[in-house]
Amino acid sequence: MNRRTKIVATIGPASEDESTLREMIRAGMDVARIGLAHGTIDDGLERYHRVRQVAADEGRRVGILVDLPGPKVRAGSFGADGVDVPTGSMVDLRVGHDQSTARVIEVDYEGLLEDVHMGDRLIVGDGGADLEVVEMKTDRLVARVSHGGFLRGRPGIHIPSDRLRISTPTESDLKGVDAFVAAGVDMVAVSFVRSAHDMRRVGTEPHPRGPLLIAKIETRAAVDNLSGIIEASGAVMVARGDLGNECSLADLPHLQKSVIRECIAGGRPVITATQMLESMISSPAPTRAEVSDIANAVFDGSSAVMLSGETAIGQDPANVIRTMSRIAARADEEMDHEVWASKLAELRMTDTSGGAASVTDAMTMSAWRATEELGIRNILCISGTGFTVRSMARFRPRARILGFSASAHTVQQLTLSWGTKPIPMLLNGSNEEMVHEAIRLAKESGDVRSGELVAVLAGSDSRSRSANVLRLERIP
Ligand code: PEP
Repeated sequence: MNRRTKIVATIGPASEDESTLREMIRAGMDVARIGLAHGTIDDGLERYHRVRQVAADEGRRVGILVDLPGPKVRAGSFGADGVDVPTGSMVDLRVGHDQSTARVIEVDYEGLLEDVHMGDRLIVGDGGADLEVVEMKTDRLVARVSHGGFLRGRPGIHIPSDRLRISTPTESDLKGVDAFVAAGVDMVAVSFVRSAHDMRRVGTEPHPRGPLLIAKIETRAAVDNLSGIIEASGAVMVARGDLGNECSLADLPHLQKSVIRECIAGGRPVITATQMLESMISSPAPTRAEVSDIANAVFDGSSAVMLSGETAIGQDPANVIRTMSRIAARADEEMDHEVWASKLAELRMTDTSGGAASVTDAMTMSAWRATEELGIRNILCISGTGFTVRSMARFRPRARILGFSASAHTVQQLTLSWGTKPIPMLLNGSNEEMVHEAIRLAKESGDVRSGELVAVLAGSDSRSRSANVLRLERIP
């Protein structure tokens, strides 16, 4: 199958064993997401090493993304079987870590009684239940359930982010970053980002030596400060669960489109996330609306689509990935490359400053034009940091992108890039040597055939600051 849009799948209790991971990799998981919201850092590291091991056994390249919980407030557990919290009932909210019930919800946030105000709306789970605070007592809040729901496990409680006094990344996030960077993680997602400063506070080395930092757009402030956040990030996630709590739900599809548009303009991979196949947590087939949601996320320009509970706690993680893969591949086939090109022109995404980025812009545009005009099926991009490959991917070319790099980190980070097959290349020499080597590797892997015309984008030598040579080569 010729799928171009990547799939990120969350690893959880339903998917952490070796045989399920193997099936998920075979089904098409491109990036495994390990959330630190549940369990300890050591539990997360165990999952990390298992994914690495199974991917190596399978001979498949799988990126690994660790997702930092940030200042996420959670309820005490409603238990695995769950509890029904009916519409119109009254509940008490109090600070604590004990079991929650339909009458008393325990909340793991010390500032609850100071930060939450009379009349505030609190949302439990991603839309699971809606509460309105109607009374403030010295030891608890009293709330009316305006929309009831079925709650299980430890759902998040959404408190308006401008009220929360905890900043992101939290101390515990930073400990997670240290542990996972030491283990060699490829990407780190940062939750509840409000500004570019929040991204800089993660403090890792710039990618590719450090992880690719992914800003989760899920607060009102992040939407307001979007361009600065994109500039300070390696990639972006439209985290629709929490974003849908912060804004009107009717605004959500439009915010999704505008965040994706800005990411494409900035040359950043963008993941569309949450509830894409939610019904498949317990059902073998998706709803019609879910199928349309995935296809539309592809048409919007998502580089990747994400599965959360579907693979973390769902009944058949590999089946969910196969389903998503089929839907995304079919949508990829329908991608209107002509309309896409005119949209890019509207975005005025090219940098005309004359610096390294503007050279890459002009070269990738020329490569795109040449492949379209000549019906070229493969673009070989040789890149140090992955910047050329990500710039090329913005054009959503019909041709496949083969992303070569001598940096092992870059190769792993390219697992998230649209339409890209990452390929490691040991050599880092003259343009002639690198082009020759990329062609040899592409032939060896069966990605290109003798007699085929390909486009090759690379720097004039290993010290080039940007890809400044485009060659059209016939494969010998
Ligand atoms: C989201 O809110 O949509 C999201 C992806 O974040 P998390 O799963 O960490 O709540």
